[in-house]
Amino acid sequence: MQFSDIPGLHELKNQLIGAHKRGKIAHAQLFSGRENTAVLPMALAYASFLMCTNKQENDSCGKCPNCVRIKKLVHPDVHLHFPKVSATENRYEKVIADALPRFREFVQETPFGDLELWARKYGQENKNLLISREDSRQMLKNVSMRSVEGGYKLLLIWMPELMNASSANAILKILEEPPEKTIYLLVTYNYENLLATITSRTQLVTIPPHSENEIANYLTSGGSEETKAVQSAKLAEGKLGVALQMVEVGESHEYEEFQKWMLDCWNRNLTSLVHRSEDFAKSGKNAQKTTCNFSISLIRNAVIHASGQEAPAQSEPERIFIGKFADKIGANKLEKIYSLLNEALIHLERNSNPRITHLNLSLDILRVLNS
Ligand SMILES: [Zn+2]
Repeated sequence: MQFSDIPGLHELKNQLIGAHKRGKIAHAQLFSGRENTAVLPMALAYASFLMCTNKQENDSCGKCPNCVRIKKLVHPDVHLHFPKVSATENRYEKVIADALPRFREFVQETPFGDLELWARKYGQENKNLLISREDSRQMLKNVSMRSVEGGYKLLLIWMPELMNASSANAILKILEEPPEKTIYLLVTYNYENLLATITSRTQLVTIPPHSENEIANYLTSGGSEETKAVQSAKLAEGKLGVALQMVEVGESHEYEEFQKWMLDCWNRNLTSLVHRSEDFAKSGKNAQKTTCNFSISLIRNAVIHASGQEAPAQSEPERIFIGKFADKIGANKLEKIYSLLNEALIHLERNSNPRITHLNLSLDILRVLNS
């Protein structure tokens, strides 16, 4: 990851680079921002910049052995600590051997991802993931070891908010008095939940959300269709990671799924509706909201069509579907479904049970369609 891989945020990048040029590198830095924003990518780009042996004016080179190894997260002087299943001392190595390769893949594939995506990649969705006492012992070991290659030694701690009090307390001393050339990069999405003893020992680096324009441009330059990019950017609330997930979901022809769902409601296919609510619950929080938002925008477009105007659509098949659906259902029922979807989204945001919320929604829509 280089600074140039992260869109915008120039002021922050300049600030990090400038501090380095002035020789002012805080030994413990807390990268803080909301989930699915550039918090982890920024910490990784900064790590590459610090370690790069061929620094450019405003970025790491991306090509030297250090840059290449940091990109793959295999540099021997960059130690990674992240939430995992808890392990006793004698099982710790096994847990690491299982988790570390998956974590490397997760970061490379979805650097703007969050804990939920990580848990899925890790295959541990239903476990309580944390940074354990054993991890903090490992951190102490990392710190006491000499740097393998004689340069900086970095400890990257992803989500220190998931350290319990005893593991957090165990590292306070090393946070306060690190050996020379040892740098801690903590990456948090939940600044408020960190112990004051940690926040007071670290220098805060706040990562702001992206603007809608930055997100839309990033998506189109990655090959997304423009209408879809703009629409996802609008819904993502500055979270590039959410926009990326939306684009991915959108590209898998979600309207076809929506179409099947509506048919199940129309045909009162209760068995299928129950299955749908189960699949929906399994899909994870972001995907659930994305699905809801996508359905809302489809219905909105159908309302536009019903009012006699040209409705925006991602593709020709989608446009045809919206037209037919709107003509068949009519404005009155569309508006009812629109309100039901919005209500369901509000429930989900308040952490309602996704399976029940989805099933209730299906049954309400069934009633509207068959009334
Ligand atoms: Zn380099």
